[in-house]
Amino acid sequence: MKLYLVIPCYNEEEVLPETAARLEEKFRTLIEGERITADSRIVFVNDGSRDRTWEIICALHEKNKLFRGISLSRNRGHQNALLAGLMTVKEECDAAISMDADLQDDINAIDEMIGKYDEGYDVVYGVRSSRKKDTLFKRGTAQAFYRLMRAMGVESVYNHADYRLMSRRALLGLSEFKEVNLFLRGMVPLVGFRSTTVSYERGERFAGTSKYPLKKMLAFAFEGITSLSIKPIRMIATLGLLIFLGSIGMAIWSIVRFFMGYTVSGWASLAVSIWALGGIQLLAIGVIGEYIGKIYLETKHRPTFLISDYLSDD
Ligand code: UDP
Ligand code: MG
Repeated sequence: MKLYLVIPCYNEEEVLPETAARLEEKFRTLIEGERITADSRIVFVNDGSRDRTWEIICALHEKNKLFRGISLSRNRGHQNALLAGLMTVKEECDAAISMDADLQDDINAIDEMIGKYDEGYDVVYGVRSSRKKDTLFKRGTAQAFYRLMRAMGVESVYNHADYRLMSRRALLGLSEFKEVNLFLRGMVPLVGFRSTTVSYERGERFAGTSKYPLKKMLAFAFEGITSLSIKPIRMIATLGLLIFLGSIGMAIWSIVRFFMGYTVSGWASLAVSIWALGGIQLLAIGVIGEYIGKIYLETKHRPTFLISDYLSDD
């Protein structure tokens, strides 16, 4: 099997030499063990780095053709860089594995991923078995993130980041998704095909600092929800309905109060109309939102289906 490894890099000069050395060694053993063919490649995607990252990639390519490099015109962010790499190699390889440059993803999980590919899986998700090495803060926020995603109707694999293997046909399937708001780990499940998981221990960043500060993380979570789910719009409609129902309750209550003789004149009609109008307005916004949600999904030009097998007579 011809395996390509795709690694987005943004200002990773501190880790890149070590990552490259370890991966070179890994590929050597994999090729010797005939798990992958000798024309397998490691592809670094330079995401508009401002440091020496691209020079390092060029030097690696010069020394050993195992390494390839793709440089983006400017910094476009992790997801775009990753997609750029995957889409560049999709036609050439049998399968591609995406991973981070900082060695947090255990490279020994590659063996198992290849094993699953050989068993016939098209997508193999790398799942973190534990987050012992992460800071308490990172662990807490990450867990909250996965829960929120699920609650908001985004189908995603728990504790899976972007360390995964995808077969060529899964990559071709992914290329049918024309959206520009990328949240790859939520899109891959939509591509479908047979998938499984492989667990690995998440390590510490080998060197350098995280390129995902809290601000970027929050933006990423927001992107994930708004680019994959229209559930928040539905929630507005539901809220509107609840408030409207509440207004009916209020109407009954104020009539009861009226007959008990407790009310100031005008209070009942005022209170009920505030609730009823608020509810109806929210409900109306929700209905309009539903159509906007539909328009939104249409504009994504996602494939309506992908065929995995076709039994025909010739
Ligand atoms: N990255 C990128 N472009 C960016 C930010 C990050 O290509 O704008 C890459 C980065 O080089 C690394 C991966 O995305 O290979 C994950 O980033 P990082 O390890 O900093 O994130 P964390 O593990 O802290 O979530
Ligand atoms: Mg990292």
